[in-house]
Amino acid sequence: MKIDLHVHTTVSDGTDSPAELVTAAAAAGLDVIGLCDHDATDGWEAALTAGEAAGVRVLRGIEISCQVRGNSVHLLAYGCRPDDQALADELARNRAGRAERVPTMLARLAEHHMPIPEDVLARHVGDSPSVGRPHFADAMVELGYVADRGEAFAKWLADDKPIYVARYSTPLEHGLDLVRAAGGAAVIAHPWGRISREALPPRYLGALVASRQLDGIEVDHQDHDAATREELRALADFVGAVITGSSDYHGIGKLDHPLGCNTTTPEALVKLERRVQARGGVL
Ligand code: AMP
Ligand code: FE
Ligand code: FE
Ligand code: ZN
Repeated sequence: MKIDLHVHTTVSDGTDSPAELVTAAAAAGLDVIGLCDHDATDGWEAALTAGEAAGVRVLRGIEISCQVRGNSVHLLAYGCRPDDQALADELARNRAGRAERVPTMLARLAEHHMPIPEDVLARHVGDSPSVGRPHFADAMVELGYVADRGEAFAKWLADDKPIYVARYSTPLEHGLDLVRAAGGAAVIAHPWGRISREALPPRYLGALVASRQLDGIEVDHQDHDAATREELRALADFVGAVITGSSDYHGIGKLDHPLGCNTTTPEALVKLERRVQARGGVL
């Protein structure tokens, strides 16, 4: 049983449509995928329908943009009720923050002699309701300003680079409360990847798990090296957090982490499912 609990589609910054994602998952030999688009749930229905036909189980997930003292952290939510209004409203607030920064980012790109015509950006955003920096990166690649998404982030788009514009994101503990109230299970995404290690020290993560606000920790992720994974695994075992792993697949935009490159054990999935069931969420 092969389980990949965190993947993206064109509903956010992935490049496969929900149906294409399911086809790719079946081809990769996956039995279960957690569809976790950034701040959006619009892919759930199409992926679930495609999953039924292809024999791939699709879990309803979300990767919620959160913040802890000004640091960006990502929260994975599984099994939230689709009709939960408070959660839907907060996701809409995050998406609005994404859209509001677009004009400033375009102006800064122009100042740096990398103008992006609005129709070029619009083509890369497509019908995603959740515009993200990878859409800008793809437009920059098309216009020949950078070679790939990685270079776009390293030189221009990362949180400490010139084109970065801060946006609204959910205070983490509020996000945890919303997920639980919607019947879901909460897993902190790649907690010690990129810049979030300072924001999420072991004691804080441990306290969130101990208080049952947080259910799990995503340990096996490409942003964690082997030593980091061992540290996180030890912490998760010590505090009783469910350990997950995922590819964080984004399609052709990021080829270095294919579907199924990291996986979650069936036992871990059962633990998450029990919590969702106990809270009245949907599986
Ligand atoms: P945003 O959603 O606008 O905050 O952009 C963050 C997203 O950009 C992440 O979810 C990743 O998918 C992607 N990302 C972040 N850093 C990089 C990088 N160095 N290379 C490629 N994609 C990245
Ligand atoms: Fe992403
Ligand atoms: Fe993430
Ligand atoms: Zn992700």
